[in-house]
Amino acid sequence: MQISRVRGTSDILPGTTEKWQAMEQTMHQICREYAYREIRTPIFEHTELFLRGVGETTDIVEKEMYTFLDKGGRSITLRPEGTAAIARAYLENKMFAQPQPIKLYCAGPMFRYDRPQAGRLRQFHQFDVEVIGAEGPGADAEIIVLAMDFLARLGLKNLQLHINSVGCPQCRQVLPEKLRTYFSGEVGDLCGDCRTRIDRNPLRVLDCKNGKCRDIGREAPTPLDCLCTACTEHFEQVRRQLDILGIECVVNPRLVRGLDYYTRTAFEILFTESGAQNAVGGGGRYDGLMETIGGASVPAVGFAIGLERVLLLLDRQDVSLDTSVGLEAFVAVAGDTEQLATRILADLRKEGLAADRDYAGRSLKAQMKYAGKTQVPLVVITGEDEAARGVAVVRMMTTGEQTEVPIEMVAERVRTLSGR
Ligand code: AMP
Repeated sequence: MQISRVRGTSDILPGTTEKWQAMEQTMHQICREYAYREIRTPIFEHTELFLRGVGETTDIVEKEMYTFLDKGGRSITLRPEGTAAIARAYLENKMFAQPQPIKLYCAGPMFRYDRPQAGRLRQFHQFDVEVIGAEGPGADAEIIVLAMDFLARLGLKNLQLHINSVGCPQCRQVLPEKLRTYFSGEVGDLCGDCRTRIDRNPLRVLDCKNGKCRDIGREAPTPLDCLCTACTEHFEQVRRQLDILGIECVVNPRLVRGLDYYTRTAFEILFTESGAQNAVGGGGRYDGLMETIGGASVPAVGFAIGLERVLLLLDRQDVSLDTSVGLEAFVAVAGDTEQLATRILADLRKEGLAADRDYAGRSLKAQMKYAGKTQVPLVVITGEDEAARGVAVVRMMTTGEQTEVPIEMVAERVRTLSGR
């Protein structure tokens, strides 16, 4: 029996990998412009990191982690998100001793035991950006601007930015109790998850996707009702800075991140699909995270964008990325000239040209047909007679025009003709 891939994973094939490369190029370029540097952390970490760094009462930790014991009996988890590992790396590598803030980005696979469907996988990829060691609202605004700019540069349209402030632990002290009181009469009507959340993580009831929970919670108090003066000022400043840059946002008081270490700004970038809203990315401030995972208190803000969702949206919006990856030249071998073809091919590649040749021993006619099919603009033909005279034929495929070129000049000629 043939073995298939694991449910919720995907093979990214040629034709699509070029789109990924284009997306990654935009990512590297934008991060360079905004002065973020790449960090690469391991794919797996001690489970404890995520228990503390993502939070034991989150869906990710409660239901979705790929956790196993390794052969040494250690509990290991495949990373379900990027922030906790970046925070660990910041502390472990004493990046706090460098001038602050530290601006980092990373991209790579994440693993969640989610229910697979379009745009939801068990191995998916995120683009993560974090500013560590900056408290001011300017960092929050920059992160949001970067996220929106990235999506705009790729050509995505009709996205909505939702933003909220969840306050600081001080101004949030009263909210859990207020929420418990508000929901007390109707706990029985909430969904199973929310019944547990009411005790353990009541803020999360506010952003439950269940329609009934949303209805019941329509008039519930939100973090925005409880912000202290400093948090109100911070939120206003973030919005002002977005406004200056012409970035529209919707204040959504129901957008929460339930854990204590999330502070102030929370945001999501949404698209609407068959009436329902879906997130392409989101993030916020997590001033309490470093302490939660054993470090000193260091303010930080970041976001993650799901790259599969970006691609899905690009397809649906009919946006094509610049994926020109075609060959510049194909070397067609005629007669007994394989060694010459190999040499010319090497010359072409040394010139930085994308080139290939036949390895299947096909006839010249079949090779030309293949070259036509791949839409390669130039074909170099190595024939025995020409080789004896020290030349090869360079053919422009669009016009059919052919010229004989001295063998040692072929690469140079192809480069000129390709406009490189
Ligand atoms: P989160 O870390 O949950 O805030 O997710 C950030 C972004 O990652 C989301 O907005 C999605 O675009 C993407 N994402 C999260 N979970 C999945 C998944 N299971 N499959 C694909 N993309 C995901």
